[in-house]
Amino acid sequence: MKTLNDLKGVKGKLILLRLDLNVPVDDAGNVTDTTRIDRAKETVLALKKKGANVAILSHFGRPKGQKDMAYSLSFLPSVLEKQWGVPVGFIDDCLIDPKGSDTQITLMENVRFYEGEEACTPDFVSKIAGGHADIFVNDAFSVSHRAHASTEGLAHALPSYAGFAMEKELDALNDALGEPERPVAAIVGGAKISTKLDVLYNLVEKVDILILGGGMANTFLYALGAEMGQSLCEKDMKDQVLSIFEKAEETGCSIMLPMDGKAAEEFKAGAVYDEVPMTAVPENRMILDAGSQSVEAIKSLLSQCKTLVWNGPMGAFEIEPFDGATNDIARYAAQLTKAGSLKTIAGGGDTVAALAKAGVVNDMTYVSTAGGAFLEWLEGKDLPAITALEMMDEEE
Ligand code: AMP
Repeated sequence: MKTLNDLKGVKGKLILLRLDLNVPVDDAGNVTDTTRIDRAKETVLALKKKGANVAILSHFGRPKGQKDMAYSLSFLPSVLEKQWGVPVGFIDDCLIDPKGSDTQITLMENVRFYEGEEACTPDFVSKIAGGHADIFVNDAFSVSHRAHASTEGLAHALPSYAGFAMEKELDALNDALGEPERPVAAIVGGAKISTKLDVLYNLVEKVDILILGGGMANTFLYALGAEMGQSLCEKDMKDQVLSIFEKAEETGCSIMLPMDGKAAEEFKAGAVYDEVPMTAVPENRMILDAGSQSVEAIKSLLSQCKTLVWNGPMGAFEIEPFDGATNDIARYAAQLTKAGSLKTIAGGGDTVAALAKAGVVNDMTYVSTAGGAFLEWLEGKDLPAITALEMMDEEE
């Protein structure tokens, strides 16, 4: 696909730039995390420097194709100006030609105020390109699993390029599962296997070692015959677990399950617990985190790996002391990454929160803030807006 390094001679041209500015906002209307805004800065400043007029397209929340001012982006230009250090204008409709505006960078109103956005109707795609836009730049990996007008549609309608943040994200993902340095391990944790079945099927094909943790490890252990007491456990997933083992056998992937866990009587911060072998979980207790033997075994495996892909916490990381295994493993992976012996690529909503809590979010090789898009990529699916960018390159 073409990137911004290929983009020449754009002085005075109008570029539609798709960003994901669906940022978290507190009750007082303050943006609580500017990561997505900060990651877009390099692209915005590069396009400004090239002399282009830039109209930024983004969604915000789920207004369901209607103009609903609760989801207006009008509050954001001042935040963008602060983070990017350049003037940012605002136009209250994403279909208007912004060339007349007095700022070179203009934020357009929420693209999801129109039904044609999510439906990706040809009529809406041509309205949004409007006959006035020259080029499309997609710098929003996190919405690239959506075949929407402002993600996939425009990439078919205009000469299209990947922005810098998109390029970095795709390079990191390729380093993780495309052409990784081996041995490659994946850590998959979190609550349930039912939401991550496709991820697990795909990973056993791609990685050498699959390390399981969190509630989903309980389901695996149960399927193998362990009694898991009151633990979170999807008892009806036995057949799926066995088929994942079968597939792993075929592909030569080793699956590692925790051998011990922290067993408590209640899901509560500060709950009293004992470390027990997974084969002896008391009937009245639940496993809320991996135990210290498991943590040591995982660390030892990681020390032999060159690449790590991580999604999902190893326990109930939101409540102490059940954040212990996640913190220990995250800090160890960070240490190996900083020392240059491991490339760690992590992503998915709770994973970012867990790594931030462990204080190592900036020490990994790459942390993706894309929730759904990161998971679909982990599932091995083609992301329509990325495919469209690649096709554009082939067509030219
Ligand atoms: P997910 O969204 O699937 O990545 O799951 C993340 C959630 O899994 C977090 O809210 C964790 O508290 C929860 N979780 C992880 N391990 C356990 C466990 N052993 N028991 C209960 N919940 C867990």
